Amino acid sequence: MGARGGMIAPDETTFAYLKGKDKAPKGEAWDNALAYWKTLKTDSEATFDKEYNFDAADIEPMITFGTNPGMGMGISKHIPVSKDTASGNASYEKSLNYMGFHEDDAMLGKKVDYVFIGSCTNGRIEDFRAFASIIKGRKKADHVTAWVVPGSHVVEQQIKDEGILDILTEAGFELRQPGCSACLAMNDDKIPAGKYAVSTSNRNFEGRQGPGARTMLASPLVAAAAAVTGVVTDPRELL
Ligand code: SF4
Repeated sequence: MGARGGMIAPDETTFAYLKGKDKAPKGEAWDNALAYWKTLKTDSEATFDKEYNFDAADIEPMITFGTNPGMGMGISKHIPVSKDTASGNASYEKSLNYMGFHEDDAMLGKKVDYVFIGSCTNGRIEDFRAFASIIKGRKKADHVTAWVVPGSHVVEQQIKDEGILDILTEAGFELRQPGCSACLAMNDDKIPAGKYAVSTSNRNFEGRQGPGARTMLASPLVAAAAAVTGVVTDPRELL
């Protein structure tokens, strides 16, 4: 029927992250929890129908061109032609029409109107540090509206304490309320109809960021590069 999620066994990095956090178990309860969590891994005798191995270093910065998260590609590539896709049909065409894109278009250089860094998906302190590494000493493009939305109040405080918010504010970014924000346009943070947003959230369905809004999902680094240049840009050029 298809897969919508996956599980990754917790490792030492995960345990180190959790230890000492406010709501993490303490003392004996921590030891018991840790012992249990370490059982949450694949059985050694497990077999699989297929196994895939990827080297993350081989994956270039990605961006979506359509209206579901699977319609994504390496940022330097051209939009696939429908006959080469699994969904080579009317829905593919409808998706590109909604986006105002065409088969075989390059994504690099496409105009961007809004940049949204944040949501639950890329609103961690690590994301803002990466984002600021490109923004520091630069300004956002004049025609771009750029919103900063930490995933939580804790992260909001961190970006203030670390001086990241100052860097982003000086570059022309606007801090919005922590949380979901333009991920689903439930508050005032909506992308106007027909406008293009590079968004670090995780959904690009039709109307997700506002009726008629056109969403390109991307990482914080891709979003930062787009904010500075005003067009879809390979962030490696700015690092
Ligand atoms: S609406 Fe978006 S930001 Fe909010 S929880 Fe869902 S995916 Fe995360």
